[in-house]
Amino acid sequence: ASAVLALTLAACGGEGAGSSSGGGSGSDEDLSIGVSMPTQTSERWIADGESVQEQLEAEGYEVELQYANDDIPTQSQQVDQMITQGVDALIIAAIDGTALSSQLQAAADAGIPVISYDRLIRDSENVDFYVSFDNFKVGVAQGNALLTGLGIANEDAPDGTATGPFNIELFAGSLDDNNAFFFFDGAMSVLQPKIDDGTLVVKSGQTTIQQAATLRWQQETAQKRMEDLLTSSYNDGTRVDGVLSPYDGLSRGIITALQNAGYGSAAQPMSVVTGQDAEIASVKLIADGVQSSTIFKDTRLLAEQAVIAAQAFLEGDEPEANDTESYDNGVKVVPAYLLPVVTVFADDIEKELVETEYWTAEEVEAGQ
Ligand code: BGC
Repeated sequence: ASAVLALTLAACGGEGAGSSSGGGSGSDEDLSIGVSMPTQTSERWIADGESVQEQLEAEGYEVELQYANDDIPTQSQQVDQMITQGVDALIIAAIDGTALSSQLQAAADAGIPVISYDRLIRDSENVDFYVSFDNFKVGVAQGNALLTGLGIANEDAPDGTATGPFNIELFAGSLDDNNAFFFFDGAMSVLQPKIDDGTLVVKSGQTTIQQAATLRWQQETAQKRMEDLLTSSYNDGTRVDGVLSPYDGLSRGIITALQNAGYGSAAQPMSVVTGQDAEIASVKLIADGVQSSTIFKDTRLLAEQAVIAAQAFLEGDEPEANDTESYDNGVKVVPAYLLPVVTVFADDIEKELVETEYWTAEEVEAGQ
């Protein structure tokens, strides 16, 4: 709690009650940090929560970790409660990036620094820092992975010789998640020129993010949309050769729809399906040649950046940003620390996921 005072003092130019030893090292034991995560239905957020908690505790902080069941009022309530409880800093991965303005105002009023975790919180000036991966590059990597899977030459695989035309369909994430736009725009920066020159054909004609979106990133919703696309656009016997999917959960829904329609046999091979997060069920599907690729984002490194940022604030400093222009949240450009990402095909699993100890070989084998 002493760091709140230190911060408040810093923020208010010295006004406020009493002095304290402040957030210098050695005083961490009394400090608590609220960590608000969106959901436990996706593995990555469980891993994120655990990593952040472990690393904060290792630094001597107390941690209040909550998951909000992908329910906006629940997350608002949990954050409200953390503020009332008197946490000294907040790390928040928002469900709806626009829904936390009043909570963030309350945090600012209490001198609590707010770190937006992975997903940018929008429409509030009270976002102090953003830690994430380079989300546009995630999209670029997904677009390139789709091309690579189809055998079309691209930045990552210049030797591709396939010329198409290939039928593809596009999926996007949840429109209340700022990242969904970065992923889609990044992917389309690679795919649109290939659509324009006829190499790729989006047979359904559904090429806008609004048409491609998947509310709350739900697997079932993606499966249903893929089923509908197969019925409406591919019942004349044409094949869907590739599917841009921005997240492994969606990819598995899409794959189920394709399998139910007979894809995945010698006569009708599985479409090239991309992904994101290196979820274990998808890593197994990739090892088995069912899903084509995923994008690995090492949540341990993201957690580490969140901890570094929290620590900086609690010591009265500003965390170091490596991007100060990409993330305008509608009110201000939020200084960000962005991490790089890695594309994983079957051949990369050992090096990128097993050797880095993200998953064990046994987990990959079992798919869990
Ligand atoms: C994250 C992705 C994740 C998606 C669904 C996005 O905000 O950046 O890693 O796949 O949410 O949970």
